[in-house]
Order: sequence, then structure tokens, then C-alpha cells
Amino acid sequence: MTFRSGFVGVLGRPNAGKSTLVNALVGQKVAIVSPRPQTTRNRIQGIVNRPDAQVVFIDTPGILRPDSALNRQMMNEVTQALEGVDALVLIVDAAEEFGPGDRHALEVVRGFSGPAFLLLNKIDRVEKQMLLPLIARYSKGHTFAEILPVSALKGAGLDVLMEKLVAALPEGPPYFPPEQFTDVPERFLASEIVREKALHLTRQEVPHALAVLVDSFEEGNKLVRIRATIYVERDGQKGIVVGKGGAMIKRIGTEARKELETMLGAKVFLELHVKVQPNWRDNAAMVRQLDWRRQLEQLSDRLPEGGDRQE
Ligand code: GDP
Ligand code: MG
Repeated sequence: MTFRSGFVGVLGRPNAGKSTLVNALVGQKVAIVSPRPQTTRNRIQGIVNRPDAQVVFIDTPGILRPDSALNRQMMNEVTQALEGVDALVLIVDAAEEFGPGDRHALEVVRGFSGPAFLLLNKIDRVEKQMLLPLIARYSKGHTFAEILPVSALKGAGLDVLMEKLVAALPEGPPYFPPEQFTDVPERFLASEIVREKALHLTRQEVPHALAVLVDSFEEGNKLVRIRATIYVERDGQKGIVVGKGGAMIKRIGTEARKELETMLGAKVFLELHVKVQPNWRDNAAMVRQLDWRRQLEQLSDRLPEGGDRQE
């Protein structure tokens, strides 16, 4: 069987559905996600692993308003981001009219020599005949490898997309270990395991008030050292989680450690702390930290693509 692998750039105006698309594709197949800040290949949004392929989706810098003074510099950045990308996906909101931002996006696509796929997204809320003028407009601007109506939200058309995308990638081995989780998801999974044990052992006396953050995750040769903090909202909840003479937190730690050792295939040293943080649920920064998908989004939103919104 031939194995194909490659990088796919995801391009689109804010709100077009880039994150929804990549999450849907990645979530559909068991996959790993890594921001890989150390790679020169920009920010990886998600990796889809299949028996016959590995597709690495990367974020491209956002598309600025065409009249922006930063335009040229951003164009350079986009062009750079597209270097080494094997295929491009331009995702547009089919419910929106073709605007200056879209013309700009088309220009970017035109500067790319590889296969480009146009996704007309959100077809779940668009009349079919509305797609025709869009298709005509885009076809006039560029010869796309495929123009596919999809709904990233409902998952419609995504199987077809994956088939076409994979077929467009070069033959080659995977870039990343297919089964190995990178450290962001491992950290996240570690916190989920601790949270699950805490909820289970306290018989859910503190369900929504409980959050777990991994403070450090160090992989040694034989040992993985994990420090995590369990956050609760009130002193009484802390009492429950710590237990009499620390008995409860000890049990939580033991059970979580065993499961982590199985998951990681290594000995684990797990250090747990319990902290009271009143109203942490209202603390936006903390809530964001709890979700690694949002951590990734944060990374990708750091680029100044928001300027597109006023169009
Ligand atoms: P991004 O800024 O390009 O990453 O866009 P997001 O993925 O954050 O999506 C922006 C908004 O569009 C969110 O509210 C999504 O739920 C919504 N959205 C994305 N895809 C679809 C779709 O296929 N159908 C509908 N109805 N909404 C969608
Ligand atoms: Mg996004």
C-alpha cells in the first residue's frame, strides 16, 4: 500500500470555520495535535493519521484587509507559510457574499503553485442555489483542484475532502510518530485522568467546582515527573479532596498514577496539590488554560487576522 504524507495549509477569513474544520477532521480520526512552536513549519493545527496517510494541517497567517498598511509584509508571511506546503485549503463561509477579503484570499491562492481546494462551508444553512454564483466567482479567479461544499460543523462532505486531499499528497513516510501523543495532549490527558479520579473518589461531591492543571511534565529516561494542581472553589471542597489526614488526595494520586503509568508506558512520579481559587470559572485566563484546543487557538489567533472582520 502506498503511504502518503504532507502538509496542508488552511486559509480563510476569520469565522470561515478553519478551527471547526480541523477539529472535525482531527476528531473524526484518532489523531494528535501539537503546536510545535519549535518547528519552522508554522503552527500545526492538527494531524490526521490514517492507515494510508498522515495529513498535517497547518495554520497560515490570516488575511488582512487589502488596504492595510501591513498588507505587503503579511503577503510575504503568507507566501513564506505556503512554502513547503503540499496542498492548500481555502475555506469560505458560503453564507457570506464575496468581498474584498475574499479577493485577497484568491490572490494568495493564485500565488501558490500546488493543488488548492476550495471549501464552501456552512452548507447546512445555505440554499443550494446560493452556491452557484460563488462557484462561478471563484472558478473565474483560480483553477481549483476541487470545489467542495461542506459543513465543518455537521461533518458533511469531510470524507470526500479527506480522500481528495490524501490523493493530492506525495508518497512518503509520516512526519510525526503516528501513535505517539505529543506533550500537549499528554499533559491534557494527565489532567483529565487526575480530574476523573478526583471526581470518582469524592463521589462527585464537587463536580463542576473542580479543575486540574498540570504545572510541569518532565520526561526523564525511565521516569515521568508530573506536578498537577487540583483547583476547587471553597475551603469545604478542599477538605473533601484532601480528606482526613490527606487520605483522599493520596488515593486520588495513587489511582491516577497507575493509570498514567499504563498510558505512558513509564514509571510516573505524580505530585498533587490542592488549591482554593474562588470563582475560577469566571477567570477567563484559567478557563482557557484548561482546554488544550483553546490553547492552540490562542496560538493561531495571536496573528493579526482580526482586522479582516470589519469588512
Ligand atoms: P475560524 O475563525 O475560521 O477558525 O472559524 P471557527 O471554526 O471558529 O468558526 C466560526 C463560527 O462558525 C463558529 O461559530 C462555528 O460554530 C461556525 N461554523 C463553522 N463551521 C460551520 C458550519 O459548517 N455550519 C455552521 N452553521 N456554522 C459553522
Ligand atoms: Mg479559528
